[in-house]
Amino acid sequence: MNELNFDTLAIHGDRTKNPLNAVQPPIFQSASYEFDSVADVDAAMGSSEGGFVYTRGDNPTLALLEKRIALLEGGAGAVSFGSGMGAISSVLMSLLRSGDTIIAHKTLYGSSANLIEKVLPDYGIQYKMIDLTDLAQLASSFDDSVKVVYFETPVNPNLKLIDIAEVARIAHHHGVKVVTDNTFASPHLQQPLTLGADVVVHSSTKFINGHGDAVGGLAIAQDLNYLNELRFNYMCTFGSVMSPFNAWLTLRGLKTLGVRIRQMQASALKIAALLENSEQVATVYYPGLASFAGHDIVQAQMAGPGAILSFVLTDPKLETAQKFIDHTKLFKIAVSLGDCDSHIELPATMTHKGHSADDLEKLDIHPSLIRISVGLEDEQDLIKDIEGALAALKRE
Ligand SMILES: *Cc1c(COP(=O)(O)O)cnc(C)c1O
Repeated sequence: MNELNFDTLAIHGDRTKNPLNAVQPPIFQSASYEFDSVADVDAAMGSSEGGFVYTRGDNPTLALLEKRIALLEGGAGAVSFGSGMGAISSVLMSLLRSGDTIIAHKTLYGSSANLIEKVLPDYGIQYKMIDLTDLAQLASSFDDSVKVVYFETPVNPNLKLIDIAEVARIAHHHGVKVVTDNTFASPHLQQPLTLGADVVVHSSTKFINGHGDAVGGLAIAQDLNYLNELRFNYMCTFGSVMSPFNAWLTLRGLKTLGVRIRQMQASALKIAALLENSEQVATVYYPGLASFAGHDIVQAQMAGPGAILSFVLTDPKLETAQKFIDHTKLFKIAVSLGDCDSHIELPATMTHKGHSADDLEKLDIHPSLIRISVGLEDEQDLIKDIEGALAALKRE
């Protein structure tokens, strides 16, 4: 265990000095690296540490980000990717072969669901989408073909919570690997590897970068041999490499992850309470509310409930939800999350467009659900904006 705390590690990492004693790391914006002799190339290609040859496989700016995120997630190492989906697709392809089965929670980020339900079956990989909040269902879902259990927690966009330690215990009993998408919580609130997960994946596009200006992905694990295979056989072969500039932006964003999450979460708690007390709101989905199912799991595995919440208005018409969103002024109508700017969206017509009302119900997504990612604007301004939108609905 590193004795420094999260906010310190996010800034100092392992305290290795930057080249030329620069306080801030340079961006190694170079596709390849030169050598003094052919023998030196040979040595670099055979080594795993510091032997930079070509940026699609390894780059010093990416290496710094990988070291930093591994420290923060409690892993031994990490691999960076061009996007969250780059990380997720590479990790799942690396752990599954034709004839295998993946068990996944039934509600997943849209592109992850697409990968598991539409793409992997073409390669002979079957899936079982089950309800991982029901551990008995998980326990009865294994057969010899199952090789991976995959889920997000909190789940997008209904914020349901899955017990990482229990899922890992049951999966490991069957010799099955556990992969967790930790995008919604971020390592500041939840470290799945320390709870038993084998691989953690991230869309660093969201909270980790935190400024909405760099798409990226990360995979973190304890097994360095596995990470080496993931890097060279999958990330590098599929070409899903993060750019050095995006790695630098992500390192910069990462420094303030703790302070950002704590402020966003404080505002989210107030907004959740406001919505819960409004007669214009039927249900609020937020792990920080005592009324929320799975509130006990927050206490067990998270340092806090996070900055994303969803809710359904008392008037359940889609049109009313749309109007509410249109009435907000500070919340940007956009699909991403985790930025300094607050975002608002309607999953049924935006992130989960194309699902029928029946499909949405099966995924536990109310057809008029509104999702908010609380940003860093002044808390009172955000509250006034929500109150203003509710008042505008009332006047109509
Ligand atoms: C955004 C997101 C992804 C995909 O990440 P990209 O960086 O957009 O490829 C995966 N999982 C979750 C939970 C996300 O929010």
